[in-house]
Amino acid sequence: MGQTIAEKILSEHSGKEVTPGELIISKIDAVMVQDGTGPLAVNEFKKLNKTKLYNPDRTILFIDHAAPSPRKELSNSHNVLREFAKEYGAVLSEVGEGVCHQRLVESYINPGEVLLGADSHTCTSGALGAFATGVGSTDIAIVMALGRTWLKVPSTYKIVLEGKFPKGVYAKDLILHLIGLIGADGATYKALEFRGSAVKNLTMPERFTISNMAVEAGAKAGLFETDEKTYEYLKEQGRADKFKEIKADADAVYERVININLYELKPTISCPHTVDNTKTIDELGEVKINQVYIGTCTNGRIEDLRIAANILRGKKVKDGVRLLVAPASRKVFLEALKEGLIETFVESGASIVTSGCGACVGVHAGILGDGEVCLATQNRNFKGRMGNTEGSIYLCSPATAAYSAIKGYIADVREVL
Ligand code: SF4
Repeated sequence: MGQTIAEKILSEHSGKEVTPGELIISKIDAVMVQDGTGPLAVNEFKKLNKTKLYNPDRTILFIDHAAPSPRKELSNSHNVLREFAKEYGAVLSEVGEGVCHQRLVESYINPGEVLLGADSHTCTSGALGAFATGVGSTDIAIVMALGRTWLKVPSTYKIVLEGKFPKGVYAKDLILHLIGLIGADGATYKALEFRGSAVKNLTMPERFTISNMAVEAGAKAGLFETDEKTYEYLKEQGRADKFKEIKADADAVYERVININLYELKPTISCPHTVDNTKTIDELGEVKINQVYIGTCTNGRIEDLRIAANILRGKKVKDGVRLLVAPASRKVFLEALKEGLIETFVESGASIVTSGCGACVGVHAGILGDGEVCLATQNRNFKGRMGNTEGSIYLCSPATAAYSAIKGYIADVREVL
């Protein structure tokens, strides 16, 4: 019987032909933790009395969620990770190097691999044709020690994308539309496989945005086949030799098929307080905003910053609105500097935040006040996500975010394009 991408990768890693629903023991190529989840994983690993990591070169610790640290307790957590990396030879990504999921695709993960991360949005790397998923810290401790773990093979939903984006509509609008369509639990423990004639036109950053949010529909993974774009991306990152063809079989079996014509999409907004509470901009009505946040593992890449800067160039952020911009990694930050994008942002009135999670996680760098409204390019808008249960978060594309920052309310970016 033909296999989906997820089934093929997991078959290869378990040494047998797997079927959906089956429990398998899978080899794991790489594991990651971040500064929120890492200290627990480290403590649990130490309880196993192992003297070394199974694969130190591919055990990656990120200090990104509260970076730089706003509190002594978090500073101490960071030091736990630093000391562990030194003692066991794990890879450490320091303050300012960027958000874990951006760093993983830039530097660490390759097609056909299995990545487990102690972070929900580990699914981002699925855009590279890797099976990448989030698990708990204790699961990570086991993989750190053994290099393998158990997994339940997910069945797969095939998301067939056709057509082209109309003006003002982007990958973020597409994934918000899909989540609104199927619901926050619409793909629980499924793999989403993005296929169709439109995929060849999607850039790698667009694919990362889409895979990143697969978990917001409950999915374990969000996968793309590899193609020339994957190859070019890996080549740009100095890893052309890691390219591998990853394709589903023509007769693969899918639990569900969902068809989306990109041409029919509109700028889409997730409204408080769930990601699947979506409205098109035409349905939204006027929503005034206090803060706009452009960044994160969803939409903090150089292509996102270019789109936002093009809209903001020569314009000013509306009085009473704070615009925060956080490049997703140091590499992105440097590119943005060289291209003059940072100057454009600062001239428009924006504040630039250290590359990392910034305001997204609600511990620093942009916590909302009571009753305040934030429009953000991140992937979650749960109550309290940005550090205050009395705040409200709307989610959108970088283009909508930039244009809205100028207008002072959530605005239709198609007006200026
Ligand atoms: Fe999580 Fe936000 Fe950081 Fe992404 S940017 S890893 S969603 S906290």
